[in-house]
Amino acid sequence: MAQETRGWNDFDAGAILFSFNKDSNVNNIANTLPENRAYSQSNSYTASVADWRVEKPVFNRDFCIDCQFCWIYCPDMSIVSRNEKMVGVDYDHCKGCGICVDVCPTNPKSLLMFEEKKSENDALANWPKKESKKDKENK
Ligand code: SF4
Ligand code: SF4
Repeated sequence: MAQETRGWNDFDAGAILFSFNKDSNVNNIANTLPENRAYSQSNSYTASVADWRVEKPVFNRDFCIDCQFCWIYCPDMSIVSRNEKMVGVDYDHCKGCGICVDVCPTNPKSLLMFEEKKSENDALANWPKKESKKDKENK
């Protein structure tokens, strides 16, 4: 049977939306990768919630030191990391806030903001060079 879709104003005040399907095992959820969790239809993980983003972070593996700062600080859990290695950005949930770029410590940065419509290849081709101490002082 197709699941009923309701608007936000169809719910009574105080209604509870469950994050996981009723029959899912949630006891070990912290150790289950997000893509393997039985999220319910009312959980925002199941939808793209980033279509209003105007800029996006692009990841450049060439400079990344896998410090995981971006993963820790992202307020939307949109940095994908596996076995302590930065993998990329979950663009269905990233809101384009730029915090991951701010906290990235490498020179040049391993994450940079680009216009939403720019392709990843174009972004990587336009990556800045390493900044010297002098360049930084003159800023
Ligand atoms: S831009 Fe913001 S929401 Fe997107 S990955 Fe970076 S910190 Fe997360
Ligand atoms: S903050 Fe920068 S260097 Fe650290 S894991 Fe993220 S992209 Fe890599």
